[in-house]
Amino acid sequence: MTAGETVWVGLDVGGTKVAGGLVDGRGQVRERVELPTRAEAGFTVSSGQVVAVARALLERARALGWSVGGVGAGFPGPLDPVAAVLHNPPNLPGWDGVRVGDLLADALGLPVAVENDANAAALGEARQGAGCGFSLVVYFTLGTGVGGGVVCGGRIFSGVRGAAAELGHLVVRAGGEPCRCGGRGCLETYASGPALVRRLRAALAAGAGPDTAVGDAGAGDLPAEGPLTAEEVVEAVRRGDPVAVRVWQETLEYLAAGVVSAVHAFNPDVVVIGGGLASVGELLFGPLRRLVREQGMPYLVEDLEIRPASLGRDAGVVGAAMLARDRADGGC
Ligand SMILES: [Zn+2]
Repeated sequence: MTAGETVWVGLDVGGTKVAGGLVDGRGQVRERVELPTRAEAGFTVSSGQVVAVARALLERARALGWSVGGVGAGFPGPLDPVAAVLHNPPNLPGWDGVRVGDLLADALGLPVAVENDANAAALGEARQGAGCGFSLVVYFTLGTGVGGGVVCGGRIFSGVRGAAAELGHLVVRAGGEPCRCGGRGCLETYASGPALVRRLRAALAAGAGPDTAVGDAGAGDLPAEGPLTAEEVVEAVRRGDPVAVRVWQETLEYLAAGVVSAVHAFNPDVVVIGGGLASVGELLFGPLRRLVREQGMPYLVEDLEIRPASLGRDAGVVGAAMLARDRADGGC
């Protein structure tokens, strides 16, 4: 890039960190700034962190001679993207009712577009990542929770209140596990990282079933107590631990149920899956593709692509910057 070119600020505000970037017209992240959110310290401190990341990026743009076209920000929902107001977001205590668009516009003196963080990441993947070139992208992110977004013709499908495509709360088991959303049996309660660990713990606590070797010498080498991460569960699956393999297969069946439901609802040409659990690669994508083929309506799944996300942690930043660019172009 040369001096005088235009970049957009993309902010991805999470419960633990605020990631920001300067994104150029080709969707490339040129500069990055990150700070801890300090959400536990309350609104004044954590909003200061968000503004600090944005100001640091504006300063870098100025130093490099780049012009800034606008600011886009993804926040944890629930969020009304039109009024740019947060509605009691569980990951940002003290932010209920905050008009985040006005907050940032006043602090930065630039136009600001805001979105639900998963929708922003979906837009990033649809425009610049694994969904590039497809007409209707359904995006899932499998992490601490399960997020989702639908991008049709390059635009986020928002719904009446800006909260469409909460794909983590598709019900995959009627009357199942209670979910933080107030419902039961949501995909998030089976296919998030913590859910995977919790379900493996429950299986271990239940002891060896007739089809497992847990408790036998030399088999089932996961500790029955103590800390366990999703990564450790996945490693156990790779080693062939019978209980871990069984819980993983169940997880994939729940995930397939969620993907099939979304495919039946939206008829996409690609499903993009990101987040920490998706980084395991074919261990997830191989069986998932087979299950979706088996369970989906043939007309809707025969040409469907299911792909890993490709932008990694940049998806939210890139998508937020795309929102800012759309706003500047008069779109959305
Ligand atoms: Zn739920």
